[in-house]
Amino acid sequence: MKSRKPIVIANWKLNGGFDLLCSSVASFVKKSFLAEVYICPPYLYIRDLLHFLQYSVVNIGSQNVSKYQSGAYTGETSAQMLAEAGCKLCLIGHSERRSMFRENNASCQIKLKRAFENNLMPVLCIGENLEEKNAGITKDILSRQINESFEALDIADNSFCIAYEPVWAIGTGQAATPETAQEVHAYIREQLVSLFGQDKAQQIRILYGGSVTKLNTTELLTQPDIDGLLVGGASLDAEHFMSICQQV
Ligand code: PGA
Repeated sequence: MKSRKPIVIANWKLNGGFDLLCSSVASFVKKSFLAEVYICPPYLYIRDLLHFLQYSVVNIGSQNVSKYQSGAYTGETSAQMLAEAGCKLCLIGHSERRSMFRENNASCQIKLKRAFENNLMPVLCIGENLEEKNAGITKDILSRQINESFEALDIADNSFCIAYEPVWAIGTGQAATPETAQEVHAYIREQLVSLFGQDKAQQIRILYGGSVTKLNTTELLTQPDIDGLLVGGASLDAEHFMSICQQV
């Protein structure tokens, strides 16, 4: 039995409209789960979803957060605004943000700081791409992503999660095997031990993401260092996502 509470996060990305909102609400109201469950919809739907899910145990998160606090930054949304809107969590450094929107470890560090300042629980997404995997440098990439994101950051008593999302597994149907994912998660925890010490590292939840479905959920979650799942495509079908949440 793991001491860390399992966590399952739906990342809707730029998908769905009001119809997805409605079908999800219908599935999730009056349900209870052993895991903490979050949905990260597009920004525009955060308030609606919160309103509809106010009597459910599902929490709302954001897919991104601005590194700026306020000012002339057209199109940005600050951590303070997200917290005020009712978000409990924010994803930071998703591989799509890194590859398409030029985010890097330095910007992730600022975003982590903004999240901590506003009591949003950050989920730092890390992972190697196919080229890096084939070159055998997965561990180097992950250790740089972790170290450069947290360096000079005072984490104090803040709580946060790490999501290991191998880029080659995202949206491809080729999930990492539970054994491979466990090996990488154990390595990530070692890195966290060196940065934050044994006690803190044992409390940090490390999620796996990348082609998670209801078919590989149980096997992934029974690995000792896999504490949760970040689900993209399979979370767009409310019944499918529900079945993932219920396997915890
Ligand atoms: P996927 O996406 O489940 O569709 O592979 C996961 C993610 O990008 O967070």
